Amino acid sequence: MKIKDILEENRFSLSFEVFPPKREGNIENLYVTIEELLALKPDFISVTYGAGGGTRDKTVEIASKIKNEFGGEALAHLTCVKSTRKDISEILINLAECNIENILALRGDPPDNEEMFVKCEGGFGNAGELVDFIKSEGIFSVGVAGYPEVHIESPNMTTDIANLKKKVDAGADFIITQLFFENSAFYRFRDEVLKTGIAVPVIAGIFPLFNFKQIPKILSLSNTKIPSVLYEKLLRVSEKPEEVEKYSIEYAIRQGEDLVRNEVAGLHFYSMNKSRHIACIISELDFPD
Ligand code: FAD
Repeated sequence: MKIKDILEENRFSLSFEVFPPKREGNIENLYVTIEELLALKPDFISVTYGAGGGTRDKTVEIASKIKNEFGGEALAHLTCVKSTRKDISEILINLAECNIENILALRGDPPDNEEMFVKCEGGFGNAGELVDFIKSEGIFSVGVAGYPEVHIESPNMTTDIANLKKKVDAGADFIITQLFFENSAFYRFRDEVLKTGIAVPVIAGIFPLFNFKQIPKILSLSNTKIPSVLYEKLLRVSEKPEEVEKYSIEYAIRQGEDLVRNEVAGLHFYSMNKSRHIACIISELDFPD
């Protein structure tokens, strides 16, 4: 089913993100995790698309498994990095053949060894151009990324949201946000999005911070701020993984409860390919019918 239709039918959507494992042998573990995540009855599961190749083919394979073998709904991520129009066309054909109806259209980050995103010759320069191309095929529901704390290359929120509007005007049906830890940032962003005349649902991305060591990477890739109360608490217990996990779960539950109370269109959990923690969080949340 198209996510556009799911969002139109439901007041609220629940979803999870998984990523293709780097090592071939780990894919079977991921399939076990996906089945456990599907038992939590999400509206869809999204599958990321690797920045520098390698795991890219796996995105279609995993999304196809979710849709065709496990009976869930899949959202395949797709980026412009190092891809020509012809490459993207081939992936779209492959997705359509696998019965995948939903794509998260992204520009993508530069590969690890490169500093800036460089448009591939014959490719796309930003996510909006990719949305336009995918939509011209007429068969996919398309989502795009939004940044409550502004995309790291953008000078300010006004410019960033004006660019977000271009993606929606190109045909995007929904927005999934970058992770954030302060709900006030999400509410500010949602207000600005509405003021700009963007009417598609904004789904909140929640990242339970299970590993203290993830913090530097998160901070280097985005403008996301970690509230001092969260940081200091995690720092105090950083040598005790079970305490980090317990506090992160509690924090994600509080974030989710507040977002649901404030009528968020959906919650999208960055699962980091773990189901047990996500199940603990979901079991404590009451979702709208
Ligand atoms: P864009 O929307 O193209 O924006 C990039 C920058 O260009 C922004 O600063 C924007 O303001 C500006 N811009 C946009 N349009 C225009 C325009 N028309 N003219 C001028 N400037 C413009 N990365 C991966 O590699 N794989 C993934 O699977 C993946 N999944 C993600 C899922 C979510 C929910 C999110 C939030 C991010 C994900 N990313 C993923 C990261 C994403 O690729 C990076 O954040 C990337 O730097 C920007 O991608 P974008 O689609 O937001 O780009």
